[in-house]
Amino acid sequence: MHLTLRDKQRKSVPALLAGGMLLCSAFATPLASAIDFGGLVNSASLAVKAATLSDTEVIELAEKSCAELDRTNQVAAPGSKYAKRLATVLKPMNMSQFNGKALDAKVYLVSDVNAFAMDNGCIRVYAGLMDMANDDEIRGVVGHEIGHVLLGHSKKSMQTAYTLQAARGAAGAASGAVAALSQSDLGNLGQKFIQAQFSQSQETAADDQSYGILYKEKLSRTGLVTLFQKLAKQEGSEHSMFSSHPSSPDRAQHIQSRIDKDG
Ligand SMILES: [Zn+2]
Repeated sequence: MHLTLRDKQRKSVPALLAGGMLLCSAFATPLASAIDFGGLVNSASLAVKAATLSDTEVIELAEKSCAELDRTNQVAAPGSKYAKRLATVLKPMNMSQFNGKALDAKVYLVSDVNAFAMDNGCIRVYAGLMDMANDDEIRGVVGHEIGHVLLGHSKKSMQTAYTLQAARGAAGAASGAVAALSQSDLGNLGQKFIQAQFSQSQETAADDQSYGILYKEKLSRTGLVTLFQKLAKQEGSEHSMFSSHPSSPDRAQHIQSRIDKDG
């Protein structure tokens, strides 16, 4: 997601590791990620391959990598406290589908403060986020993640993850065949998708999309403000110099000024 606490994330032990997924160390920090990305830019053929992934292929990749992430993370069981709460919280958003796909929302029992959405309707909210957020704040985050999908950011992010996977020699990605990707390729691809950094303007645009979704359903938009205030407090002075995100106080202020204007 992209409301994340990077420093906090690095300190915590990702449940994905415990689940057996190999987190590529090259992507463990934004700096290393940037270096890898530099190599990628020089590989014109791979970039072309990523750009030519069709919408159908992007959705197929999303379906497969979401399924693989579900397999390697502990998913809150239907009827569990977390699953019930998420369903109840999302109901008033009236988004039984987005991007033409049925909304499929689940909770990962992971302590990180994170969430993500994919083009196939997959939304995953981490327990660490649910524990620190109230219902309005969770709706704000989910609206933000859906915003990234609706604005095409997630599609681009999936294409980039696919290209990175090809750069690492994954057979399926290198041959341009989504169907040929192995389980571990798909798991790594999903991991790269989750760790992708969006630009400042993309983050602000996704915040605005969330605001629009909540406004349309006459739901409180204050959650977007208070969540960023909470994140700012947790980030403290540790706000990463590598972060390309607008700062949390700026994002809270942006939404507050819209609420002040719209009432
Ligand atoms: Zn974001």
